Amino acid sequence: MRGYLSARYLVALGSNRRHHLYGPPRTVVHAAMEELAALGTVRARSSVRTTPPLGPARRRFANAACVLETEFDPPALLAALQHLERQFGRRRGRRWGDRVLDLDIVAWDGGEWRSPGLAIPHPAFRDRAFVLGPASEIADDWRDPVTGLTIRQLDARRKRSARLTPRTALPR
Ligand code: ADP
Ligand code: MG
Repeated sequence: MRGYLSARYLVALGSNRRHHLYGPPRTVVHAAMEELAALGTVRARSSVRTTPPLGPARRRFANAACVLETEFDPPALLAALQHLERQFGRRRGRRWGDRVLDLDIVAWDGGEWRSPGLAIPHPAFRDRAFVLGPASEIADDWRDPVTGLTIRQLDARRKRSARLTPRTALPR
């Protein structure tokens, strides 16, 4: 909470399990967006998209992204997001596994950040269609401080390489 009057974060949301109250993944993601507003001001929200499962997860995911303006610094925001994941009944364990709610900090307007358990930009976001797709709806001119490319350029690059790499050749 200290030192940052307000920062803008690009937050990715994902769900591939029903919630006993909120229902299927799509409405879980909508509900989570509402809850994010309690952490600051949601400046932009993408549509909610349904994407095929990746890795050992077997259910389809609902994904979205939003731009959150908040006074939280990165570790405080991560703690708040993890608290929200737990409120939605997520149990930590297997990575890539089934989860009611996954909240990731994709990027922020403060450049690169590294602290124990937290890296911003999120190390894997440049290859993830389910992050770049929604993100490009709301933040396509955000620039990745590591590659110097905008979200729009990263999304285009990923689409090109997806065309060149048959799905069957992707590592599971
Ligand atoms: P994933 O989101 O890659 O599927 P998890 O949600 O299980 O995996 O997150 C694993 C760990 O990633 C978290 O415990 C968190 O400490 C760490 N992490 C590192 N950087 C970030 C980030 N930018 N946003 C969210 N989590 C992050
Ligand atoms: Mg996560």
